[in-house]
Amino acid sequence: MRITVFTIFPELIEAACRPSILGAAIESGVLTVRTVDPRDYTEDRHRKVDDVPFGGGAGMVMMAPPIAAALDSALAAEPAGARKPRIVFLTPAGRPFQQDLARAWAREDSLFLVCGRYKGIDDRARREYATDEVSIGDYVLSGGELPALVVIDAVMRLLPGALGDFTSAEEDSIHSGLLEVPQYTRPREFRGERVPEVLLSGHHENIRRWRRRAALEVTYRRRPDLLERAELTSEDRMILEEIRARSGESD
Ligand code: SAM
Repeated sequence: MRITVFTIFPELIEAACRPSILGAAIESGVLTVRTVDPRDYTEDRHRKVDDVPFGGGAGMVMMAPPIAAALDSALAAEPAGARKPRIVFLTPAGRPFQQDLARAWAREDSLFLVCGRYKGIDDRARREYATDEVSIGDYVLSGGELPALVVIDAVMRLLPGALGDFTSAEEDSIHSGLLEVPQYTRPREFRGERVPEVLLSGHHENIRRWRRRAALEVTYRRRPDLLERAELTSEDRMILEEIRARSGESD
């Protein structure tokens, strides 16, 4: 997969793409991440990418021509015959970025992520190019670089070969439809708290059942909305009934 990030702060993306699992995925060729700086597509010697908003108001707006020229150049450089990239504008006004989108985008060949700065990007660039607009949450950041990195990381985890053990991405919270169960490692006892005995038993079926119950319980308590969309077996529904009954008793 190829990811191209359009940003006037390429060093933010490049620095975050070096360490850890993301760095390893790039190093091993599972994905490539490159940056394109709209400043390289300006026509004035100050490499100006912003201007005052028409109609007045505080702040600056990113101009359409440098972004458009950067996108046109990257589109022209896509391999011949390749599927068209998705052109994603990061914006607080976009659709919430969730795991279902990460899953869909992990199947693409090429993603373009367009980062705004200042008051955002001239709307004509969005209308001309955006195939998707996403927000990473109901808060406003100074630029689209952190949201772009959120998208890159979430998509990368789902690419075959990116994680040593793909099952761990499948077990992640949300991806599986439920929140993930509590995890434990050595030591067996920490400040008087012992690891649940069943996890030490080596009994695979009991461990599976304990984990499923724990996932259902933590999801019921913290994110009951997820249960409405999760794929539940009849065993899950029985467990949920018990959890509901127990929590009713303790209310
Ligand atoms: N004035 C814009 C508004 O109210 O929607 C916010 C502009 S923000 C300061 C600058 C840039 O940061 C945006 O163009 C966008 O690329 C990015 N950004 C900020 N918050 C974001 C969020 N929650 N999700 C995605 N992108 C965001």
